[in-house]
Amino acid sequence: MDIFAQLQKVFGFSSFRSNQQEIVEAILAGKDVFAVMPTGGGKSLCYQLPASLLSGGCIVISPLISLMKDQVDAALAIGLEAAYLNSTLPQNEQQEVMARMQRGGYQLLYISPERLALPGFLQRLKKSPFSFLAVDEAHCISEWGHDFRPDYLALSRIREEFPHLPLAAFTATATEKVQEDITRRLHLSDPLLVRASFDRPNLFYQVLPRQQVNKQIEGAIREHKGEAGIVYRLSRNDVEKTASYLSARGIAALPYHAGLEAGVRQRNQEAFNRDEVQVIVATVAFGMGIDKSNVRFVIHGDLPKNLESYYQETGRAGRDNEPAHCLLFYSRGDFFRLRPFIEQLQDKQERELGLQQLRRMMAFAEQPMCRRRAVLAYFDEEYGQENCGACDICVHGTEEIDGTVDAQKVMSAIYRTDQRFGAGHIVDIVYGAKSKRIVSLGHDQIKTYGVGKKEGKGHWRSVIDALLAQGLLQAEGGEYPLLKLTAAGEEVLFGKKKFIHHCILAPEEVVPQEETHDRELFARLQLLRREMAEEEGVPPYVLFSDRSLHEMCCSYPENDREFLAVNGVGQVKLRQYGASFLAVIRDYLQEHPEIEKVIPAVVEQKGKETPHKGLQASDTVTETLVLAREGLGVAEIAARRGLKPITIAGHLEQIFRQEENDLDILRFIEPDLLQELTAQFVANGSVRLKPVVESMAGRADYDQARIVRGYLQGSGNIL
Ligand code: ADP
Ligand code: MG
Repeated sequence: MDIFAQLQKVFGFSSFRSNQQEIVEAILAGKDVFAVMPTGGGKSLCYQLPASLLSGGCIVISPLISLMKDQVDAALAIGLEAAYLNSTLPQNEQQEVMARMQRGGYQLLYISPERLALPGFLQRLKKSPFSFLAVDEAHCISEWGHDFRPDYLALSRIREEFPHLPLAAFTATATEKVQEDITRRLHLSDPLLVRASFDRPNLFYQVLPRQQVNKQIEGAIREHKGEAGIVYRLSRNDVEKTASYLSARGIAALPYHAGLEAGVRQRNQEAFNRDEVQVIVATVAFGMGIDKSNVRFVIHGDLPKNLESYYQETGRAGRDNEPAHCLLFYSRGDFFRLRPFIEQLQDKQERELGLQQLRRMMAFAEQPMCRRRAVLAYFDEEYGQENCGACDICVHGTEEIDGTVDAQKVMSAIYRTDQRFGAGHIVDIVYGAKSKRIVSLGHDQIKTYGVGKKEGKGHWRSVIDALLAQGLLQAEGGEYPLLKLTAAGEEVLFGKKKFIHHCILAPEEVVPQEETHDRELFARLQLLRREMAEEEGVPPYVLFSDRSLHEMCCSYPENDREFLAVNGVGQVKLRQYGASFLAVIRDYLQEHPEIEKVIPAVVEQKGKETPHKGLQASDTVTETLVLAREGLGVAEIAARRGLKPITIAGHLEQIFRQEENDLDILRFIEPDLLQELTAQFVANGSVRLKPVVESMAGRADYDQARIVRGYLQGSGNIL
């Protein structure tokens, strides 16, 4: 059994992600498996690939009915024999599925844990010729997990009932306690244990001080035009408010929270899943029932209650491993909004733990430390690199600022009002607000009144947050805490000590992810994907992931072979959708002759995955090389191979770029033209084709410029 060939043919992937290969091999060898892999780590493939090879197929136990349908649709879309059994199917269809199951007609059969517990069902399942079982979202079996489901406890019996079948359990929940619980309850015997890194390198973490949160959220979403995202809010009320705020400003957003009627909730989730709305605004109730892979941003409008929740919620972004943005709007005041939730816990120990975790979450938002390092440290994982390159701290850098004067302004206002007011009021004094309350209390007469007008209220709010974070101030009291100076704070006020704080450089800038694909083509392919998905009644990401579309927008495949080289395109998807997608790409290329193709081999090398064998793309370059050596020109090679001249020019560019090649550039470009083009490239000081071709005013075309560019990059690296 060639698992690599199967990976390419069925799934359209050129390499395994970390840990996938050993898991697949273990299952094929009949071993139990327990794998902890982060969201987006590619757990499904670990059981789907063996299921596609073994004679009996796989029973997949999966917790959510809504999820099941999407997973089956995705499996069917790559040509696997798959079905699910749950109560949403009409009775007669359930009978059909069971009959086919007993005949061994499925490679994948998804069932819910409740189903397993139904009388008589187990007996029929046992008579069916399955080769192994997979338990997805296995943490649902643990009461310590965040999604405990009592019916998962029934799974404790599967080992007894299927003593001869290997059992593979998967989860993204990382805590030790949950892990132990799962192995014990499932009675795994000598399993292959896999614990993948929890790092999600494609997620960019950022924290900004919260000011006008809805406006800030709107701004952040506008940076993600046409991309799907989730906005988390703490309360149902805020969910509703933010959703209507966004809708009123023309952003398609729907609310999701437990207070909505189940039908509405379901519809809103579906609409988001199918890219019919851009944004879902939700409480933490949202997330479990969704496998949507193209979520490009997750925004937290409020502080999550601990790092575990933060990790799980942000983890819903970028499952396709494409860049995604996680943005938290933070205000220290959230502590007081969250504390009551924790204080209502019965158990004293849990209460203490809850508060401790909340403080840790605040520290994450406040400390000038790599966010990735902080998240991973929560899972006891040490991050190996100095600079993660994908969080605000590492990318922007921080600066130490002497904020003593600002601190004194704030503290003086607190001191002169006898430490009897909260943060809002103090900000009003320093800022110089003309509120009734200020006037009636005579606070507009205080010396510090209005000294901070030009910095704005938000600035003073963050100064107070920083003073609290460093223990120079403390907030006392329940709902409306009063600010008081601590002993250390008094030292700053009276000039005995400095107040130094770390400031993230250029924090107001929402981080743009590096744009590597063609946006215009992407929009067209996105539309096509949505239309075709709608016709088939499946979510768009089931057809192709964003990653696949992004690749198409770099490599511009023009034939079946090039299309197959795109990540995520296997035989079945080529057959089903190849013609339609290729047609759109071809039209687009006709309209844009200036386009620079990045051939798949290059795209692939950028990814983390290491290709295990030569890619088809490089074979096609070799074919061009062979013909070029025979003395053929661009047009002739193109005609001979049935490819476009632009493609051949791209091949030649690559060939010339290599240090050792035996082709003579002068066979493709006249000496005068070569000289002129070289001069243009040098004058432009860039590798971009467009300015060069434009300044040649018709004396050279893109193909020629491209070939020369490859030559200049190869020969002594002029470019
Ligand atoms: P998980 O269940 O671990 O959250 P999924 O199984 O849903 O993750 O996979 C996440 C995404 O990664 C999917 O879009 C899937 O197609 C993709 N994927 C999985 N394995 C690979 C691979 N070897 N190469 C490229 N993409 C992969
Ligand atoms: Mg999964």
